[in-house]
Amino acid sequence: MAASSLSVHAADPVRYRFSFPEPQHHWMQVEATYGDLPPGTLELRVSRSSPGRYSLHDFAKNVYDVHATSGGREVATTRPDPYGWNVPEHGPSVTVQYKVFGDRVDGTYLAVDPTHAHVNMPAAIMWARGLDDRAVTVAFDQPAGMQWHVATQLHPGGSPLEFTAPNLQYLMDSPSEFGPGAMRQFTVGDRTFRFALHHTGTDAELDAFVKDVEKIVRQEGAIYGEFPAYEPGHYTFLADYLPYAGGDGMEHRNSTVITASASIASARARLLDTVAHEFFHCWNVERIRPKSLEPFDFDRADMSGELWLAEGFTQYYGPLALQRAKLADLASTAQTFTGLIESVTAPGHLVRSAEEMSRMAPFVDGGRVIDRTNFPITVISYYPYGGAIALALDLTLRDRSDSRLSLDDYMQAMWRKFGKPGGSREGYVDHPYTMADAEATLADVSGDRAFAHEFFARYIQGHDVADYGRLLARAGFSVHKRNAGRAWLGDVRVEPSGGATRLATQVAPTWPLYAAGVDQDDELQQVDGQRIASEGDLTGVLQRHKPGDTVSIVYVDRTRVAKTRTITLAEDPHIEVVVAEATAAQRDFRDRWLGGR
Ligand SMILES: [Zn+2]
Repeated sequence: MAASSLSVHAADPVRYRFSFPEPQHHWMQVEATYGDLPPGTLELRVSRSSPGRYSLHDFAKNVYDVHATSGGREVATTRPDPYGWNVPEHGPSVTVQYKVFGDRVDGTYLAVDPTHAHVNMPAAIMWARGLDDRAVTVAFDQPAGMQWHVATQLHPGGSPLEFTAPNLQYLMDSPSEFGPGAMRQFTVGDRTFRFALHHTGTDAELDAFVKDVEKIVRQEGAIYGEFPAYEPGHYTFLADYLPYAGGDGMEHRNSTVITASASIASARARLLDTVAHEFFHCWNVERIRPKSLEPFDFDRADMSGELWLAEGFTQYYGPLALQRAKLADLASTAQTFTGLIESVTAPGHLVRSAEEMSRMAPFVDGGRVIDRTNFPITVISYYPYGGAIALALDLTLRDRSDSRLSLDDYMQAMWRKFGKPGGSREGYVDHPYTMADAEATLADVSGDRAFAHEFFARYIQGHDVADYGRLLARAGFSVHKRNAGRAWLGDVRVEPSGGATRLATQVAPTWPLYAAGVDQDDELQQVDGQRIASEGDLTGVLQRHKPGDTVSIVYVDRTRVAKTRTITLAEDPHIEVVVAEATAAQRDFRDRWLGGR
């Protein structure tokens, strides 16, 4: 194609200004200017969703006092749906002013108060349909009497309170903390990491904490062999450890938001666990990105069948990095494995695969439910479910290869194929992966297509559970029944209600109690002839029996007719992983797996 002689006019950036006239009342004033507009209706939207938290949030509900002006005059807006404002008649430029309320400190929402403004962009900004590729500027107005500064992955602009983003996707991915927080910095190789913290603790606590953060960053960097090229030139942790914060962690390309009501002094291990999880995401999900999430659609709930990998494998690697960095001991790592295996063996695995659990995210990840669901017995979080799959795959690869291959090799291969090539536009991933890609990469890494296919078919798209006992034994861990020999009729809780003792739990098909037809809210009158007035009565009956015994049960359901049934008690199936006496070979296997890099 011949070069055009026409000069290309770079369209005006979209300009946002955030100000905080009354932070104590938790609202932010936003002014947004969209220039170089084509004729026709300008469609202004407020996001329904936010990357990384997969339910609908409908942030437009907090937007009010909306005024649009064009050519110096106020112009009319219409409401085509609950999520947007349209401007049908306008000149080449439109400025919109509105207030947005926010009082939730976490990774998804907006929080404005006299101590800071904690801004998740999708919760705060009105964007214009069709202008996604426009550059963006963001300016923060200093609240009266404050000396706040901004921590963000946005690119620096013309002044300390001005920033830029190359496009809407990048802007949306750039949470910003505007407050009095402290900042620490360290480098690993030629990469710079910044830890911005707003907390009520001491500088010394922060300094010591950041030393541990650096250990985690180094261990996770070693898994991939390199760090991503962070676009603004650094990666930033945005942490708010405040009594009025919610507990959360949210990943972004070049930053993460970590919030907790706890302090470094009170919950150091848990806070480091969140750091380890979120930082791993700068590869896994941010750059090694499922195609189902790329680009993120702010108009709807985004569904992905790959969250068992994107979140689950991250859930596995967080504690692994802590162990390798010697920030966790073997006993606590064994406890982590217990939790993963208990999750993957929960009743839900029989009715939904890991892929299907991932697709439940819009309903369970911050989703609001009014009706009663049977999620307790049919849904398992894809975090520990996927974590358990990662544990099985890591140990299987090591087992098959005498520790020459591991899940680290798999993650590296995923990185080289899908993450490292990056995006032709900042904020985008050009080579997101599909489920078939994830399987093909396992085939490449293991050199065994049939193995890869079987693993995906059985554990990710099917309902099988790996043999964790055998796999963990190679590393000198043993998996045993927590209450071996104890009679069990299900993980039943009963509680007093309306003068009766009622079942407070749904009943899973895998529980002996299920066959009796009893379910949540039913009145449990007798088991084995004993009147049940408390949890203790039930425990007492079970202690007199052994697995395989039959007992009678009398209950009353909502028809008010008493029913008598006979059930056969099973053995309590719950397991735990413990550190066992290890041979030299087991210790060697374990060191190659859990030892520092
Ligand atoms: Zn995560």
